[in-house]
Amino acid sequence: MIAVVVQDIYGNEVATIPGKQAVQWWFRKLAKVIDWFDDKILWVGDLINYKGIQIVDKYILAEEGVINQDGLVLIKYPKVIQLFTAFSAGRAPKPNTRNVIAFYGYQCQNSVCGKVFSKEEKKKLSKDHILPKCKGGGNDWMNMTCLCLKCNTKKGSKTLEEAGMKLINQPSVPKTVLDIYGQKGNKR
Ligand SMILES: [Zn+2]
Repeated sequence: MIAVVVQDIYGNEVATIPGKQAVQWWFRKLAKVIDWFDDKILWVGDLINYKGIQIVDKYILAEEGVINQDGLVLIKYPKVIQLFTAFSAGRAPKPNTRNVIAFYGYQCQNSVCGKVFSKEEKKKLSKDHILPKCKGGGNDWMNMTCLCLKCNTKKGSKTLEEAGMKLINQPSVPKTVLDIYGQKGNKR
């Protein structure tokens, strides 16, 4: 078994976890990789799959242990990862519609709209993939925002840039459900 050292946001060693879990946290953008195994390769393959979807996103490609050579990607196994949030044993709430729209305070995150809805009007809001799924965008918090149905239709399958849209709040990852529904959450 490959053991990976986990550091908290301050760089303190807080746990050792199996390699597979470390990779999951890394791919789910809960952690970044600090150090790599030079002799343990996680994956070698094409950058683009048969559907034309990029296998690893820009975030992962930008990492030191991820090498892209002529469309062939080689990923080394992480040795040390660092969490982006306080240690919570990986129990992050799921980025489903209910959680995402509550996390952003039932407010459309399109900066030129910014309409705030009541909880009762939540059907007028939707979870939006910032980088559209059809362009390889992931199902994780860092790729989620809240848009009203009007703005979501306007954005369609465009990127923010293509749609000329700016977000009110940059995406972030709630550590527990308290960050979403608790006193300190974005609930309005
Ligand atoms: Zn809107």
